[in-house]
Formats: sequence, C-alpha cells, structure tokens
Amino acid sequence: MDDLTAMAQTQPVSGLDLKTADILGVPVSVLGMDDTVRAIQAMLEGAPGGMVVTADSSGLAAAQHDPELHDIYMKAALATADSIGVVWALRRSGHRVGRVSGVELVDRICALSAEKGYRLYFLGAAPGTAELAAEKLRLRHPGCNIVGTRHGYFPATDDEFVAREVAEAKPDVLFVAMGIPRQEKFIYHSLGLVGAKVAMGVGGSFDVFSGQVKRAPKLVQKLHMEWAWRLLLNPKKIHKVKMLPRFVWYVLRAGK
Ligand code: UDP
Repeated sequence: MDDLTAMAQTQPVSGLDLKTADILGVPVSVLGMDDTVRAIQAMLEGAPGGMVVTADSSGLAAAQHDPELHDIYMKAALATADSIGVVWALRRSGHRVGRVSGVELVDRICALSAEKGYRLYFLGAAPGTAELAAEKLRLRHPGCNIVGTRHGYFPATDDEFVAREVAEAKPDVLFVAMGIPRQEKFIYHSLGLVGAKVAMGVGGSFDVFSGQVKRAPKLVQKLHMEWAWRLLLNPKKIHKVKMLPRFVWYVLRAGK
C-alpha cells in the first residue's frame, strides 16, 4: 500500500457514484470498459453528464504544468485510463483495471447509438476524415445515428462559431478529435453552448476509423506496445512517448 492507495476513493462524480483513484491530482476512473459504457449510457439517460476525458500519460504529465488542463481533468464527469502508463499507475494503487481507450469508446458508443438512436457528432481531424470515419462506422454499426461531422482545423477564435454550428445538430454525444489539450479546452469552454449530454476528447480516433491510420495488430496491443507501433508509423509522436518517463517519475514522486 502506498499513498496512492490511500487516496483511492469512491466519490460522486457528477451525481454518478463512480469509483476513482487519485493519479497526479486527477480522479481517474477504475471502471472497466463495460462499466464505463454503462456509466456513459446512464448520463445519456438522465444522470448528470458532462465531459469524459480519456486520460493518457502525456496528458496527465502535461497537466502538471498546465493549470487549466489540470482543472479541466479534475472537473471532468469521468476520466478513463487511456494508456498503459495510467493503467500501471492504477495497478500500483491496487486497481486491476484495463485500458479504456478513446478509439474503443467511440466504437462502443456508435454500437449503442445504433441500438438506442443517440445522436452523435464528430468534430475534428483533417478535412474529410470525420466524414469518412462516420461512413465506415455507419457500415460497421447499421443505424448508428451520426448527425453531423466537421473538421478540426480552425483557430481558437472560431470556437464559439463552431460550437453554435455543432449545437444546431442537437447531438447527445460530441466526440472531439483535435489532440490534447486543444480538444479538452474546446469542450470545456463550449459544452454549455453545444448542449450535448456527453462530450469526449478522442485524439486520433477518426484517423483510425477512416482507415488513414492503422491500429496496431492485436498481439502488439496485448503486449501494451501500441505506443511503439504508432511511433514507428509516425516518428513525430516522439514528443508524446518522451512524456512517459516523465509521467512515471511524477507518479513515483507523488507516491513517496
Ligand atoms: N487535429 C485537429 N486540429 C488541430 C490539430 C490536430 O483536428 O488543430 C487532429 C489531427 O488531425 C488528428 C487529431 O487531431 O486527427 C490528433 O491526433 P493524435 O493522434 O495526435 O491525438 P492524441 O490522442 O495523440 O492526442
């Protein structure tokens, strides 16, 4: 047992009794994938919703030097463990939880939409990518109700304009794929205007579903080496990978 274990807690997050553990000052959910989807469905069915953060090591490490991002993580309705580093930190504090990734959540919520009719909006990625991702997901989950798509290349000064455009589609769920921390800051400042019950930052998910970026083979995913695969395909990702040892150091220092 270490300090992190002592800080593990059950606390009401936005009215839902979600079990979380404190990782670098952020209450990270210890729910597995199925329970996370159930919690999101509860938000869509009337429980207070809000922002869902898929927290990875680079984001949590960056938040240590970005007070606005840290504040956003702390206020999220739900923060899931979206990298092997965060899963390691949770396991260290006694929680055997698997990774709950943005890509998989998009897929699961599309399946839920096909069943229940929830209205989904895809905002982000390069022009054409969100549309292509939506097309592929409609084929994968017939009936999936994607009510709007828009690319994510606009200046922060246009955030309000874009939020009003998204609001016109009346989405229940807004997925924003613009990278950390841009997507989290957009959601934080625009969710009131958009009016969606749930909004989630999902990083490179539309690139994956559109087919532009391939996910690592299952075996590589099982070995928790997807980060290395992505680095191989896109060496520009090195800045993210470099954050992992920093994250580990911050967690070890906090647990002293
Ligand atoms: N992106 C965007 N607007 C920007 C910068 C990036 O829509 O101003 C998109 C980019 O095209 C990509 C996604 O944001 O689809 C970020 O993907 P990445 O894999 O870098 O996200 P991560 O999960 O690593 O933060």
